[in-house]
Amino acid sequence: MINQNEINIDTIIKLLKTSLSESNYLFEFANKIKLENIGNKVHIRGIIELSNICSKDCYYCGIRKSNKKLERYNITDDEVLQTVAEAQKVGYTSIVIQSGEIIDEHFTERIENLLKAIKQMSDGKLGITLSLGEQTTETFQRWFQAGAHRYLLRIESSNPDLYYKIHPKDEKHNFENRLKCLESLKQIGYQVGTGVMIGLPFQTLEDLANDLLFMKRIEIDMCGMGPYIEQVDTPLYKFKEVLKPQTERLFLSQKMIAILRLIMPDINIAAATSLQAIDKKGKLMAITSGGNIIMPNITPMKYRNEYKIYDNKPINNDLTMKFLFKLKKDIETINHQMELNEWGDSHHFYKINQK
Ligand code: SF4
Repeated sequence: MINQNEINIDTIIKLLKTSLSESNYLFEFANKIKLENIGNKVHIRGIIELSNICSKDCYYCGIRKSNKKLERYNITDDEVLQTVAEAQKVGYTSIVIQSGEIIDEHFTERIENLLKAIKQMSDGKLGITLSLGEQTTETFQRWFQAGAHRYLLRIESSNPDLYYKIHPKDEKHNFENRLKCLESLKQIGYQVGTGVMIGLPFQTLEDLANDLLFMKRIEIDMCGMGPYIEQVDTPLYKFKEVLKPQTERLFLSQKMIAILRLIMPDINIAAATSLQAIDKKGKLMAITSGGNIIMPNITPMKYRNEYKIYDNKPINNDLTMKFLFKLKKDIETINHQMELNEWGDSHHFYKINQK
């Protein structure tokens, strides 16, 4: 029997060690807690991967600045707006704009203008999440005023020692700055999401347990986390031999989602694409373990192959009614209901901001 009010680091580590045969109870319990707190709706957000140009060099990421093997792209504004119009036509009411990290006035202004254009063309009906890395408070503020209301900034690891094993230690990759950005986003009024990679080299179960407690401590509204998947053109790839098998990383991710649901019953938890890269049913497995958000990729197909943050990233055409119809049916097979007509904002955000 799991007592939600008594979950501490030792309990979390114990739950992370749960074997395959014992884990069903944990997943069912997390799903039950979700149903009691936020219901059985699965909200859908279409992701547009705006550009794979990045000024950073994270050791695990295939689109890092130093990867010369990659063809870089930048979707034009017209293509973004066409994609958004198409997304709205097939039924999406919420989108995510994601990109490599670019920090300059031109980029800030471009996003600001795109946000205003999207809000105008959708008559304010499209919910917009941004995932554009660490920016200045002023930039976050400008984008918020232009219409974005949710922001995803993954901490990747809440342990500074591990953080600096997977990032260069320099002024561009600064753990403290990432924490500061998460704080600024909250102060401005965004619904804030973070997340971590699961199954990294050098990572312990204690690290993962602390990651969950970190998310609870900073009162996140949303989470997107999934298995670390190695990318062949990155420095971290050389530690491939010490990694757990991918199926184990998937199982561990499913347990992380379930435990997070127990300690934060009313937040939004996304079923990350990396789950599906390991198992076709990965996203549905995440939903039945406590997740409630699915983010199909609606980036124009011609760019899809170049946003290679990890290897074997799934490529489907998610910008069709046929895709959404199939997704709806898949979601119904696990006794959930796909919801397209609402933004699906975080219940947690409204609850803590009403206090
Ligand atoms: S993880 Fe993000 S910031 Fe780091 S290299 Fe990749 S896209 Fe850039």
